[in-house]
Amino acid sequence: MKPGRRLSGKTRSVLQALAQQDRFVTAGDLHLLMRQTGHAIGLITVYRALHVLEQHKLVDTVIDGKGRHLHRHCSPSPHQHLICSRCHTTVELPEPSPLVEWTSPVIEDLGFTDIVIRIRVNGLCPGCAA
Ligand SMILES: [Zn+2]
Ligand SMILES: [Zn+2]
Repeated sequence: MKPGRRLSGKTRSVLQALAQQDRFVTAGDLHLLMRQTGHAIGLITVYRALHVLEQHKLVDTVIDGKGRHLHRHCSPSPHQHLICSRCHTTVELPEPSPLVEWTSPVIEDLGFTDIVIRIRVNGLCPGCAA
């Protein structure tokens, strides 16, 4: 995966900042992190950049239990997410996962095609459970 030439400089710095995070973050979190590391960037610009990166499939987006959008720069290989409910630390669960293997035939039986399965598993990471 190459960080496309079509991306603007600001969008690229948002991608770089996101790539340094293991966990899912909100646009607000990322904005704060970038300001703290000396980037003069506005929140709206971060939102826009995340949207562009989503369209380029360079970030994964999930919605947490409170309806907030969380973003992460993930590996390009297919995976599902195991996310800590408290700190959003994230582990990528590689595919094919048993969950997907079990779910796909069930959905195909219902006549659906082009199936995209997004499984989000929540729990407490070892750090937060301690
Ligand atoms: Zn991901
Ligand atoms: Zn945690």
